[in-house]
Amino acid sequence: MPHAHRALHLAARPEGMPKDSDFELHSDTLPDLEEGQLRVAVKYVSIDPAMRVWMSEAKSYWPPVALGEVMRAAAIGEVTESRHPKFAAGAWVSGMLGVQDSLVSDGKGLRAFDPRRLPDPAWALSIFGGTGLTAYFGLKEIGQPKAGETLVVSAASGAVGSTVVQIGKVLGLRVVGIAGGPEKCAYVADELGADAVIDYKHEDVSKALKQHCPEGIDVYFDNVGGDILDAVLKRLRLHARIVLCGGISQYNATGEARGPANYLSLISARARMEGFVIIDYLQRSEEAIADLAAWTAQGRIRSRLDVVDGLENFPAALRRVYEGRNFGKQLVKV
Ligand code: NDP
Repeated sequence: MPHAHRALHLAARPEGMPKDSDFELHSDTLPDLEEGQLRVAVKYVSIDPAMRVWMSEAKSYWPPVALGEVMRAAAIGEVTESRHPKFAAGAWVSGMLGVQDSLVSDGKGLRAFDPRRLPDPAWALSIFGGTGLTAYFGLKEIGQPKAGETLVVSAASGAVGSTVVQIGKVLGLRVVGIAGGPEKCAYVADELGADAVIDYKHEDVSKALKQHCPEGIDVYFDNVGGDILDAVLKRLRLHARIVLCGGISQYNATGEARGPANYLSLISARARMEGFVIIDYLQRSEEAIADLAAWTAQGRIRSRLDVVDGLENFPAALRRVYEGRNFGKQLVKV
């Protein structure tokens, strides 16, 4: 019996901001299962700013998504049928399921989870997925924070940033969040518990950093690069650590990405700036998830979801993160 299937394929390499026409929605059918296979109905697709990098030909930690290929994406779904020994029908799984409404899988790269243990199954893509793990390992392993230090976080109301702010508070840091606009800034201060917040759209970031970090910055968790990174570089404390998590301000640049102008401060501050990619830490997921689950149960970590409905709205949902229109973890509900 054929099984109806819809998938969004990469049709063109974007120039600047991704457009609807960079994608094509295809309808076809998927075959019956063979022994060792399972069928998954995709429920939520994760929107990740790095998708813009995967869509380009730039050298990265993963090969580019090929033209004509189903767009790569982390997602969660429910097993609707199984001939696989490890995954029963009714189980929920997460993995790189792609931007599609269903798939046939041999189970490789899939991870089962129990949605009843989460406030919402979609949390498997936020706090208990790549987002939470990125915040946890980026801050702890690369940032090496010590209680009492000053942590600055950019894109602080976003999925990763909001988690970093909250973990920073759990670890006893003084946290300064940077976000765009009064509503997001109020959220970072009042709901996430940052000690100070800077609205980079309406304030002079250099001046505000001087005011809120009078003794300098020990750890900077960088999600954006560009001008904000440059402003932070001017205020480093001795032996500061910069966690290079992302550079969203540069992802849609049509020329070369802009490098930091103030990098010489790293010398005088004897500071370290280090990139990381979360896939290198996935084998340690359980360690992070145990802490994140405990902190969530204690009410010290919260997650905000921003859900767009419909596979066909994937391009619009993707643009939301580059335009700062998302408020919380951006997802597409399938
Ligand atoms: P977010 O939920 O934080 O959404 C992106 C946010 O970035 C927007 O809401 C916007 O917030 C802010 N932003 C957009 N453009 C700019 C700009 N030009 N200058 C300053 N801020 C901007 O996304 P994620 O939490 O999913 O991702 C955050 C970062 O983490 C990204 O850079 C991503 O690539 C990176 N990442 C890295 C991983 C790794 O393994 N290294 C893994 C996962 C994510 P505002 O309205 O405040 O401007």
